[in-house]
Amino acid sequence: MAIRRICKYGEDILRKKLPPCDYAAVKKGLPALLEDMWETLTVVRGLGLAASQIGVPLRLAVLMLPDEKGPQRIVVINPVIVKGEGRMFEEEGCLSLPGMFMRVPRFRNVVVNALNEKGVEIEIAAGGLAAKAFQHEVDHLDGKLFIDRLTGLAKIKAKAEIKARRKEWLEMDESKPQPEEAEDN
Ligand SMILES: [Zn+2]
Repeated sequence: MAIRRICKYGEDILRKKLPPCDYAAVKKGLPALLEDMWETLTVVRGLGLAASQIGVPLRLAVLMLPDEKGPQRIVVINPVIVKGEGRMFEEEGCLSLPGMFMRVPRFRNVVVNALNEKGVEIEIAAGGLAAKAFQHEVDHLDGKLFIDRLTGLAKIKAKAEIKARRKEWLEMDESKPQPEEAEDN
């Protein structure tokens, strides 16, 4: 298992629309990839991570969604939003634009079809935070970032913030010990 560096805004892979992956072809490497994705997501305390965010051009994502029984882990391979209903406009962040949060228009409820890590077809009905997370991850797999969904003043504000933070982002490497951790050792 290994914590992987997360690709940041400006890196080409984040802008690629990924083709559906062939489960039989990826099956063998999947457990090791998913372990790294879970470990990385846990360390950065994120809700979701697309494979492309760690530099792997596969159409799959992992989500760790809060639930009464504790965090629920979901793997979606070739996810498709088959139904979207209602609107919401809530704050959203992204591990590829760390520390930046903006309100993004999304469907309030979605139905997602995908394959799980065993290659079994699943259908998930999600609302609120979970619906937002699924839409965010499917966008990643289409090469989209949440800032693409902003308009007007919010878009101008986002561009200025990106310009100010971009250099610092490209230097960040989650796979290396972080400064706080290094002090403890
Ligand atoms: Zn993201």
